Amino acid sequence: MKFFLFAVITCCSFLQLNAQRSCATHAYWQTQLNNDPALRLRYNEIEQSAKTRPLISKKEQGTGVAEMPVITIPVVVHILYNTPGENISDARVHSQLGILNKDFRKQNDDTAFIPSAFAPFAADCGIQFELAKTDPEGRPTSGIVRKKTDRSSWQQDDKMKFSASGGNDTWDSRYYLNIWVCNLTKSLLGYATFPGASPEKDGVVIRTDIFGISPDNATAYNKGRTTTHEVGHWLNLKHLWGDTDCGDDGVEDTPPQKTYNSGCPSFPRIMANSCNPLPSGDMFMNFMDFSDDACLHMFTTGQKQRMQSLFETFAPRESLLHSMGLKEPWNTATPPEHLQDSSSLHVNLFPNPASTSLTLRVNKKELTMPATYHIYDAMGRSVLEGNYTAGRIIQVHTLRTGIYLIQLQWGGQTLTAKFVKQ
Ligand SMILES: [Zn+2]
Repeated sequence: MKFFLFAVITCCSFLQLNAQRSCATHAYWQTQLNNDPALRLRYNEIEQSAKTRPLISKKEQGTGVAEMPVITIPVVVHILYNTPGENISDARVHSQLGILNKDFRKQNDDTAFIPSAFAPFAADCGIQFELAKTDPEGRPTSGIVRKKTDRSSWQQDDKMKFSASGGNDTWDSRYYLNIWVCNLTKSLLGYATFPGASPEKDGVVIRTDIFGISPDNATAYNKGRTTTHEVGHWLNLKHLWGDTDCGDDGVEDTPPQKTYNSGCPSFPRIMANSCNPLPSGDMFMNFMDFSDDACLHMFTTGQKQRMQSLFETFAPRESLLHSMGLKEPWNTATPPEHLQDSSSLHVNLFPNPASTSLTLRVNKKELTMPATYHIYDAMGRSVLEGNYTAGRIIQVHTLRTGIYLIQLQWGGQTLTAKFVKQ
């Protein structure tokens, strides 16, 4: 691993930077631990607790040990953009949430490609993700915060996590998974904190062009698996090779591995001088290896247990179970300035709540061309759509009582807003 870090950080050849996944989490975390003795103590304690946990076999799971109910984690996505193209659509964010949910619930379409030798280890991790409905002050939110920034490029130095350095401040990380989407320098795909991090830095950072599904992304990282991998770190998973030659990832059912894989290896993948004695070789299709997105398919039962243990009483991610982020908003005052992106377009709805009709107002400039609108219910189903021109009133009397999202699109612009039908 030392050689790998050296290669990634110091040898900036085009070939190396594009030939393999470039997750900065290990290097970032080592720096954090070296700079903060209190963090090292906290993290050692978390690690100790994770290591002493015996692996529950499939048999035991089936007979005596109760499965934890599915855990839903409230998510806020901070989109930091310098160019309009970096201000990615809500649809891109939703596509990424969809991928996370499939991958962590073993509902991904490509589980069929898991070699039969490894298939029995593949787990539904019982963890899912949902964009926040309520911000830390109790106000309604889409769970997506957009902010224009003067910075055109970002490093693994946490500047994106602070408004004072051109980023956007963390939402209380005890109650939200914070994901910052920004134009990380091209040699990085993303990085994450492990549990125990300083609360104001806790979260995941992903490079804009590989977040969610985009037709513009023709790279090997076009299936949203970088976010799956980084959220795995945020939930205390290590790389399979333990970030050293044949290291330990703290998980019993992942085979020992000499180092990372890249590209799309064929099964069985037996590395030269491997420490893995099994004929099935490396578990290169595990989300915590470095294979291409198209060739990552699974977490294991051991990884699931390691992640789920974080939610037990007094464990470091337990507070997320008590988040108000997915409850109904209780504060209907206007959002404070620091939570709005006043420099960008947004749409206001009147009245809200609405009973029969809805008027839309776009700030800064009026619509100059016909737009289309779609209204989605809380389950994400499209329930109403049509054409929209400025000043028109949209009839909503046919909708049932509940919370809806309206999406307005014109000339490459997309705006969304939430409203309540009463
Ligand atoms: Zn990683």
